[in-house]
Amino acid sequence: MKKHIGYMLGILLAGVCMFSGCTEQRELAKQQLAQKEEKDRYDTMIFGMDTVMNLMVYHKDGESILLEAEREIHHLEELFSVTKEKSNVAQLNQQAGKASVPISEETAELLSIGKALTKETAGAFDMTVSPVVKAWGFTEETHTVPTKETLDSLLPLVDAEGLSIEKTSAYLEKEGMAVDLGGIAKGYTTDRILALFQEKGVESAVISLGGNVATMGTKPDGTPWKVAVANPLQPEDYVGILEVKDCAVVTSGGYQRFFEENGKRYHHIIDPSTGYPAESGLLSVTILCPNSTRADGLSTALFVMGEEKALEFWRAHQDFEAILVTADNRVVATKGAAKGFSFEERDHDFTYEVVEE
Ligand code: AMP
Ligand code: MG
Repeated sequence: MKKHIGYMLGILLAGVCMFSGCTEQRELAKQQLAQKEEKDRYDTMIFGMDTVMNLMVYHKDGESILLEAEREIHHLEELFSVTKEKSNVAQLNQQAGKASVPISEETAELLSIGKALTKETAGAFDMTVSPVVKAWGFTEETHTVPTKETLDSLLPLVDAEGLSIEKTSAYLEKEGMAVDLGGIAKGYTTDRILALFQEKGVESAVISLGGNVATMGTKPDGTPWKVAVANPLQPEDYVGILEVKDCAVVTSGGYQRFFEENGKRYHHIIDPSTGYPAESGLLSVTILCPNSTRADGLSTALFVMGEEKALEFWRAHQDFEAILVTADNRVVATKGAAKGFSFEERDHDFTYEVVEE
């Protein structure tokens, strides 16, 4: 996701340099505004939740606000990590089938959102897919192709209904069950950071937490933020640029994490109904939604669903927009996403379609 912010910052920089042909006075006023913007502009790069995070905020107290944001990220990581032994999630997994464990308010909230999303997406999103994710070696980065027997023995453990959540505790009903918040935690963390920014009076910010971009307000000059949608076949390149404000833009794609064995590629988004990496005919799904937690959960879920079911889901809900990149080289934008999207007609083989309804 480093690349997204890279593109984003590149585009932002281009935007700053692009004024010309103005009268001297207007030029001066613009320069003064640009200087003020520059003075109040703070950014930082953080490594957390196994990924690179970039945060940029325009505010006179930006430096201290970003430090607080960093503390919040690490606080949430300590709660949600599946590998840190003392985390709420690791404790919950260790005690599966044995005992209920105390959890923080944030963990209870996120587990509840995740469980509701499983219902809403008919199981396409399911954080109890963890034992399967682990069997593929994505949890510890010890990649291996499990046998069908192994996967079949793990599938009965994938069942969000077996997770009970109370206000301050949670319980997994069968030994061997486990949750993995990798499909939704960065989105939730993003929402928490935006809430912190809002509390501090920030009106203009853009953050990227490994695949999860969120924008607050517009750029200080009133123009929308620009976020590139990566070309899944060449992730350092992009298929188009989105112009957004007050919106999260989250992409899930097989190209983001994968390994290869015997010439075949296996990626990290698992179809909970089969135990195998989802082969749904999609290369990536980008969700636009004011709520980043939802954007994150839905990008994972719609990737598993495939084009037809994903569009059906969009029609039924209408509280988000989507851009799907398909394995047969199409970029498909829902009509709301298309409004702010400039498809890049360049040296890639993608064609562009807009879904009106
Ligand atoms: P994302 O990049 O947001 O699409 O999330 C992918 C991550 O979520 C994976 O690395 C797993 O940790 C986890 N995961 C994989 N498949 C699923 C699924 N079907 N539902 C929920 N989480 C999943
Ligand atoms: Mg996700």
